[in-house]
Amino acid sequence: AKALGKAQYHVFDPDMHQQAIRVLQLENDLRRAIQREEFIVYYQPIISLTNGRIAGFEALVRWRHPTRGMVSPAEFIPLAEETGLIADIDTWVLQSACHQLLIWQKTCPAKEILTISVNLSRRLFSHPNLLERIDKILHKTQLNPESLKFEITESAIMENSEEANKILAEIRRRQIQLSIDDFGTGYSSLSYLHTFPLNTLKIDQSFVKLMDKNTNNMGLVPMIICMAHTMKLSAIAEGVETPAQLAQLRSLGCDFGQGYLFSQPLDSKLVLELIAADPQW
Ligand code: C2E
Ligand code: CA
Ligand code: CA
Ligand code: CA
Repeated sequence: AKALGKAQYHVFDPDMHQQAIRVLQLENDLRRAIQREEFIVYYQPIISLTNGRIAGFEALVRWRHPTRGMVSPAEFIPLAEETGLIADIDTWVLQSACHQLLIWQKTCPAKEILTISVNLSRRLFSHPNLLERIDKILHKTQLNPESLKFEITESAIMENSEEANKILAEIRRRQIQLSIDDFGTGYSSLSYLHTFPLNTLKIDQSFVKLMDKNTNNMGLVPMIICMAHTMKLSAIAEGVETPAQLAQLRSLGCDFGQGYLFSQPLDSKLVLELIAADPQW
């Protein structure tokens, strides 16, 4: 009875404690992961729906943790955003992707048509050194800036739309392309949207999934494609998994597609084999 009485004062949940330790440990590991070169970039093909060819790739980061194995972005990106570490991770991904694209472009003669899309977190987007970092990488790699594209979410640019517009204009002034990622999931006001200097709307995969086989229930997808084209922007559908979705997207005039139907994200060696083996190059 004595022991029980004592225990009542310990408001202590071993599960929560374990979880807290896990997060702390992960944060520690994350801080060291850049120096230890534990990150790796995978590349997912983006397909032109008009000619069926690879138009470019999206760079997607992976973490090869020394003891946990591959950690998916879904697990560590939120923590990286919270701690601000994402700005350095994104810079590293940008640097790696630009370097990689140069290698591919040298391998294939039709080099100018390949583009690389890189995710730009809100943290890096609002970072005081963003433009400096971009310029440094462009200078170092001598990559044609037109073959680089940033993917930014609606919420990142709507947060402070006046400041955002200035940064977006600076990016466009460098000929880098701009895409709104996960379009339709945020709360962008249409009256603002058309003032941003964009190139592409990327339709969120949740909307692509909702398109069903019944062609009169395609949800928001036809409207987003129409909106993109009205604003003279191109439309990319992400998360394309089925031939039925592809057929619908093509009939709606969607410009590009990305998803497991075409390919999973690949490591850079596989991409090199893919483009080296492709007769179009
Ligand atoms: P996202 O930018 O929307 O990227 C698309 C995600 O969908 C990727 O997940 C990709 O592997 C996955 N995907 C591609 N095709 C299909 C498909 O047909 N079906 C399904 N169900 N999924 C598909 P991933 O690589 O796990 O990345 C998840 C998210 O993590 C990304 O979503 C992005 O928000 C973030 N992320 C990934 N890499 C980076 C990065 O370098 N920087 C930043 N800031 N965020 C990143
Ligand atoms: Ca993206
Ligand atoms: Ca997306
Ligand atoms: Ca997404």
